[in-house]
Amino acid sequence: MDTNKKLGVNTICTHVGEVKDKQFKGAVSPMYLSSSYEFLDVDVKRYPRYFNTPNQEFLSKKIAALEGMEAAMIFGSGMAAISHMFLAFLQKGDHLVVQNTLYGGTVNFIKEEFPKYGIEYTFTSGYKAKDFEAAIQENTKLIHIETPSNPLLTITDIRDVTELAKSKDILTSIDNTFASPINQNPKEFGIDLVMHSATKYFGGHSDICAGAVAGSEINIQRIWEVSKNLGGSLSDMTVWMLERSMKTLGLRVKAQTKNAFKLAKWLNKHNNVSKVYYPGLKSHPEHKLATTQMKGFGAMLSFELKPELDSHKFQKALKLIKSSMSLAGVESTMISPHLTSHALLTPQEREAVGISDQLIRFSVGIEDVADLKEDIEQAMNDII
Ligand SMILES: *Cc1c(COP(=O)(O)O)cnc(C)c1O
Repeated sequence: MDTNKKLGVNTICTHVGEVKDKQFKGAVSPMYLSSSYEFLDVDVKRYPRYFNTPNQEFLSKKIAALEGMEAAMIFGSGMAAISHMFLAFLQKGDHLVVQNTLYGGTVNFIKEEFPKYGIEYTFTSGYKAKDFEAAIQENTKLIHIETPSNPLLTITDIRDVTELAKSKDILTSIDNTFASPINQNPKEFGIDLVMHSATKYFGGHSDICAGAVAGSEINIQRIWEVSKNLGGSLSDMTVWMLERSMKTLGLRVKAQTKNAFKLAKWLNKHNNVSKVYYPGLKSHPEHKLATTQMKGFGAMLSFELKPELDSHKFQKALKLIKSSMSLAGVESTMISPHLTSHALLTPQEREAVGISDQLIRFSVGIEDVADLKEDIEQAMNDII
């Protein structure tokens, strides 16, 4: 497949990065499980931990194409992608500016591991450009953002952050997991490195753990130099499954996004709901900004139940929607952030960041909206 041609997103999902079955002309990529390849007189020395087996190399092209980047790498998890990326661009004495509202695992990695490497960091006090500017130091080498953020779906102005970073010769990275490349392509706004937990929308069926980073050839090469030592590659069996999943990425995410928009509007008017957080709603503080940098508003939303309704009992009363810590599968799931991602904070700290016990994060799937509404309604009625 000619990746230089401007293909539609669903065509990229279906075709870019296929491994051609030259021997038997099968319709799908063969799975190459070999961990040992010809060594003498070959251009490429292939080895799974070098991230260059045929399945790894080719699926990387699909991910790069989806983000409009030159190159990409696939990892054993989203955290492997983030940690390898950070360690490739930050060394002893360097400083990272990182958004305050961030995936919990990333926060832990920074707080627990950076001191061992002598890498400095500052969490911003907010998610506006001025908050990033205030956190920059002489030795800042990278700014890392997450938008939409978990679980309140705040929107960071990607253009503002990249303009600021470029004026100071600082690289930028984004965790684009929540939006997926279907709803947001940060490269268009000047981001250097785009990372994904492929465990989420890329996999989409809650049966794969993987990660990815996309960027320029030079930046991906720089990550590779570190990754070959750290060794966070993904098994080719899973790479193959991920390719299979990604063929429907566009269809899935568009259907999920459509459902989420309908449910956000419905919940927003619901008597038992006091607040809905979804960038597609006009009441969202950064709704206008979201329309300028997102192609769709995503399939993640959060809402607060009225104080009379116990959020724990509500989730236990659901029959169709599962309670699950992870997200982005074709099946709808809900979770209370105060029991999971933000469980380690004190109630006061949680209140300060806007996470109440009534808050529920909703990962919307591909089911029929009518059935999802009915499930929510019956669970509410059950506990009232
Ligand atoms: C899940 C997640 C990660 C981490 O990915 P793993 O595959 O679990 O390592 C990173 N960022 C975001 C936004 C996530 O949702």
